[in-house]
Amino acid sequence: MHRQVLPVWGEPVMRVPNTPHGQRRFAAAVPTGHGIVLPAFHPALRAGRSLFPSRVFAPDEVQRLLKDGHQSRKIGKIITKGRRRGWPIYTLTLEERATCPRGCREWASCYGNNMQAAERIDQGDAMFPVLEAELERLAAEFPTGFLVRLHVLGDFWSVRYVEFWAYMLHRFKALYLFGFTAHDPGSPIGEAIGLLMGHVGWERAAFRYSGLSGKRHGSAVVLGPGEADPDAILCPAQTGATDCCATCALCWQSTRSIAFRRH
Ligand code: SF4
Repeated sequence: MHRQVLPVWGEPVMRVPNTPHGQRRFAAAVPTGHGIVLPAFHPALRAGRSLFPSRVFAPDEVQRLLKDGHQSRKIGKIITKGRRRGWPIYTLTLEERATCPRGCREWASCYGNNMQAAERIDQGDAMFPVLEAELERLAAEFPTGFLVRLHVLGDFWSVRYVEFWAYMLHRFKALYLFGFTAHDPGSPIGEAIGLLMGHVGWERAAFRYSGLSGKRHGSAVVLGPGEADPDAILCPAQTGATDCCATCALCWQSTRSIAFRRH
């Protein structure tokens, strides 16, 4: 298969127009399998950093850490189906690689290589009070519930950070989370995520382990059109069966493993 290997900026993804529903501000990026793959010697890989270090911001350099799902190419603004219909979605984006385990299978081909514009929040204790204040405001505004997608880019960067989210889930009953992690379930951070899910219930912290085999609680990357993972449902937003996460709801309503086509 042809893969684009670029040590430089670029955005080799196809765009499709936004939908009339107004769920997303930007057009979706259709996976082509031709996304940027960095060569092993690239400084971003060796240092474990984003390809776009100028797009990493301290928590006090940005207007807000939790972005409205409307600003994402694939998340969407308001859930339109299922038992969480009407809830808003927010997202948190961290620095890819800097917050991720080096064992991540997409270390060189991270989707972040194609996301020059994304605003990444620098990880560290400084984010805790800012996030807590934002969550407090959202919990007051949406007492029946709101959903946060961790992490559009990046991953859980420490056990302490996982514990921060456990405390937030305890403090704000309207808060629900979903996302994916490249941490091995048996690693210290992976175990902490498992404990978090066990403690608050998968309903409130719907995370999947990337690369976990089997029909439940896993996620996988398949290379492109025509390839499939027999254990996983292919993300419907990538097949055109739905518009975005807000109109899909699969990730937080079903424990089935989910597969994604590589960008
Ligand atoms: S399966 Fe649905 S909810 Fe999950 S990432 Fe794809 S579109 Fe979003």
